[in-house]
Amino acid sequence: MTKFRAKLTLILIVLIGCSMLVAGIFMAKVLENSHTESLKQNMERELQVIAATNVWDRTGTEEELVSYYSSQAIRLKQATNERVTFVRADGKVLGDSDENPTHMDNHFTRPEIAAARSEGVGYMTRFSDTLHVNMLYAAIPIKDKNQQILGYLRISMSLAQVEETIRSVWLFLIGGLALLFLIAGIVSYRIARGITRPIERMTKVAQQITNMNYASRVPAYSNDEVGQLGQAINRMSESLQAQMARIQENERRLNGVMENMMSGIMMIDRDERITLMNPSAETILGFSSQELLGKRYNEAKQQYEFAQLIQECIELQDTIRDEMIFYYPEERILDIHLSPIAHEDEEWSGVLIVIHDITAVRRLERMRSEFVANVSHELKTPIAAVKGFAETLLAGALNDKETAVSFLQIILDESERLNRLIGDILELSKIESKRIPMNFSPIYLPEFLEKSLSVLRKEAEKKHIELSMQVDDDIYIEADEDRLRQIMINLLSNGIAYTQEGGKVRVRVEPLDANADGDYERLRLIVSDTGMGIPKKDLPRIFERFYRVDKARSRSSGGTGLGLSIVKHLVELHKGTIRVHSEVGIGTRFTIELPVIH
Ligand code: ADP
Repeated sequence: MTKFRAKLTLILIVLIGCSMLVAGIFMAKVLENSHTESLKQNMERELQVIAATNVWDRTGTEEELVSYYSSQAIRLKQATNERVTFVRADGKVLGDSDENPTHMDNHFTRPEIAAARSEGVGYMTRFSDTLHVNMLYAAIPIKDKNQQILGYLRISMSLAQVEETIRSVWLFLIGGLALLFLIAGIVSYRIARGITRPIERMTKVAQQITNMNYASRVPAYSNDEVGQLGQAINRMSESLQAQMARIQENERRLNGVMENMMSGIMMIDRDERITLMNPSAETILGFSSQELLGKRYNEAKQQYEFAQLIQECIELQDTIRDEMIFYYPEERILDIHLSPIAHEDEEWSGVLIVIHDITAVRRLERMRSEFVANVSHELKTPIAAVKGFAETLLAGALNDKETAVSFLQIILDESERLNRLIGDILELSKIESKRIPMNFSPIYLPEFLEKSLSVLRKEAEKKHIELSMQVDDDIYIEADEDRLRQIMINLLSNGIAYTQEGGKVRVRVEPLDANADGDYERLRLIVSDTGMGIPKKDLPRIFERFYRVDKARSRSSGGTGLGLSIVKHLVELHKGTIRVHSEVGIGTRFTIELPVIH
């Protein structure tokens, strides 16, 4: 039971109890009064009867009178069981049923006698020393024909009977009160509970709302003030719930952005501590957020220049942008953007740092410029040859027919090479820019490979190289036919070019991950030769543009150094992989793996 309910119950009990107590006392008093009143009336009637049936004008000596009235009193007492007293007009007691009149005081001034004298009847309640009980005295005056007072007649009776009755009334009353108190207690408790229960429930709901349980509601009670308060609480928690949902939604959205954005985000608060770091920032900086969050920026194991940049931003209170090379966990070029965060009321509350890893961008830029340099260099060589031989011819070599023909042949070869080179460069840039969409179609491989081999057959025969293929009858693949052909022709022509006379060049197709029904998900295409092979140190670089293992042998083969780089790009456009395995003097094997369905 709550304090409030206990208090309310107590107040109700006291209120109900007090009103019942007052009512009870009042009732008891009224009962007592009416009881004594009717007793008094009875006594007066008795007195009148005694007065009317006795003789009052008896004459004689005082002694005779005393003995007469005493015996009369005793006789009357036997009949009524009440004390009877005869008093003379001057107050002298002439007879008494219980006492000897000669030993009694003058009764003229007794209150009941005095009252009887003045009012016609007198009453008095007194404690009797002789009987040790409360006695009620009643007296009337006895008058003659001339209304002269002859004496007084007094009777008295014990109030023990009356008091007994009153006491039992009181007992009954107290018993009843106790019972009523009990009932009042129960009723009060129920009333208090009816009032406090909704309030307790509301307190509980408010507590739950404080504990962020916004789904909690007060049950509907009534339409009174308490019910309205409950409704108000419900509306409040509904609105809180909606607001909270909105906030959580925003937070989720913001978190989603932070988690998934490519840029690294870092925040430093006004105490210069790192308060926020998104996953990209973790990868870029190479530290987990657990390691850095809560640390001061200059104690966070970061590169010195980076910490200095942050300090500069804090001091300048201005946006700073800088590019920086980081050496941990690997060498990277980072673009760092720092801006002070300011709220309306405060002048500054932290620094927001946005980090971009621009290593790839810078590497690409470097590659571009290197590419341009390479291209220029590659173009220059054949042009220089053409120019040189043309000049020699003009200078007089034209006259020697044999020399002139051989020079013109060189000029033709070099311009063909130039043509191929430009063709390859254009092809490569086309593939790299991904301008031309892939054109996938099902290809029946045995037929397709046969056609590809036939293109190169002549060339192979010139060098007496055996061209062969090994492929099952039912192998299909989904691919861009022109591009797949280019892949095969580039690899096969390399094989032919870098294999000595009498060697072998083979194509083999193996289905991968074939299931019980003979369906396969990937295909492996292997182009192998028994040629000169590639030294180990060159293997990682042969797919680079213009990379040639040995300029002389490549030149003699008419290669541009772009063939494998085009192959690699085309394989990647098919979502495939290419690997090379080679041993000098034994041969080279290119392995391509392609998905069957796109
Ligand atoms: P190129 O046009 O010079 O052949 P590629 O990009 O096709 O250029 O090849 C790069 C280099 O890789 C070649 O210069 C050659 O030295 C080496 N190479 C390519 N294929 C083979 C092979 N089958 N056997 C030996 N060396 C090869």
